[in-house]
Amino acid sequence: MLMTKYDARKNRSFHPVSAPDFLPRPQLRELQLRRLKAIVQRAYDHVGLFHKRMADLGMTPEDLRTLEDLAKLPFTQKADLRDTYPFGLFASPMKEIVRLHASSGTTGKPIVVAYTRQDLEVWTNVMLRSLSACGLHEGDIIQNAYGYGLFTGGLGAHYGAEALGATVIPISGGNTQRQLMVMKDFGVTAICCTPSYFLHLIDQGAESGIHIKDLPLHTGVFGAEPWTESMRRRIEEDSGIKAYDIYGLTEIIGPGVAMECVCQAGPHIFEDCFYPEIIDSKTGKPCPDGEEGELVLTTLCKQAMPMIRYRTRDITSLADEPCECGRTLRRIKRISRRADDMFIIRGVNVFPSQIESALLKVEGALPHYQIILTRERGLDVMEVQVEVTSAVFGDTVGALEGLQEKLSKSIETTVGLHATVRLVQPRTLQRSEGKAKRVLDQRKM
Ligand SMILES: [Zn+2]
Repeated sequence: MLMTKYDARKNRSFHPVSAPDFLPRPQLRELQLRRLKAIVQRAYDHVGLFHKRMADLGMTPEDLRTLEDLAKLPFTQKADLRDTYPFGLFASPMKEIVRLHASSGTTGKPIVVAYTRQDLEVWTNVMLRSLSACGLHEGDIIQNAYGYGLFTGGLGAHYGAEALGATVIPISGGNTQRQLMVMKDFGVTAICCTPSYFLHLIDQGAESGIHIKDLPLHTGVFGAEPWTESMRRRIEEDSGIKAYDIYGLTEIIGPGVAMECVCQAGPHIFEDCFYPEIIDSKTGKPCPDGEEGELVLTTLCKQAMPMIRYRTRDITSLADEPCECGRTLRRIKRISRRADDMFIIRGVNVFPSQIESALLKVEGALPHYQIILTRERGLDVMEVQVEVTSAVFGDTVGALEGLQEKLSKSIETTVGLHATVRLVQPRTLQRSEGKAKRVLDQRKM
């Protein structure tokens, strides 16, 4: 039984801006089609790459008559943003663009995205609807620990929270001791950050005598990295808050593409602004509702940089069963797997999230782990280092070996591969102040 300080389900009041969350489906589809036609026309008229691809297929915007026709249009990929760096996909002249953001690429140049004044309004609104969906409102004090700067997380959450009427603390990322002091002294009720950073706050707090369970904090808006349902349970148990999953990506708008409601049953996509499709990654063909595949998104309102059929590399499925909250927006299954995070070991595809849920099934394991891949005599070897509680660590050698074996078995049952498990003391593994790095691949390519 989870003990939480606050039951958001009791709060059923919605901000007026959330009205589109509850549109009857036929009305929503009508709105989507109208917006889709306009945005495809805009991209065709102003974005050279899109125009050329349509022309290569012998298509014009007039060929788009129904929402289903969208599946005939060409995809956009991350590489397209890199190839047209920095401004090649903009559909507005610079004098109409009021903000630029960029996402740091792991290699080479970043990708750059643009917003008109109207785009910023859309973004503010979807972020407001996100925060409202998980029960936040005027009077809440929100500690925004997403990074401010070129990264979209900080400013995205900031403007949404302000528009909601909440009190925003623009603390940005890092400086854990100051975060804890502010959380306690300012009576913070909600926090926005990555789930792994929140775990770090729980740990560091406990060490300096600040127990989050005793603070007024009741809600966490967590995103910017994949996390599992087991991780959610662990966070809620250890801090007494409700943990919600927010989804977004820079290429589409930033945070606020989809957000969980108080039912915590997977993020609702703001479908009046972002049109979702699920495709088979290999063939590019659409998958029916309920089937798992790659999420493809089309921005329905974005002026400065319309994205048509953007391949997110995120693996999920769409659920159209009605949600208890009354929203008519479809939900995506929480994204715990990104095609880019997958690693292949001895021919088997493995996602870090599978290791995470395997570890968290076993009592005594802490939600801090790292996967290390090496190659010994031509064979791939997977070692999983996992922190265990001090109590466990003080146990007898026999007990430790027993736990090691349990963890190893749990991994083997989940992914079908043997892993060497190494138990380490609490707070041994490096903590991240942003996105967690779960896999260290030391195999020579
Ligand atoms: Zn709902």
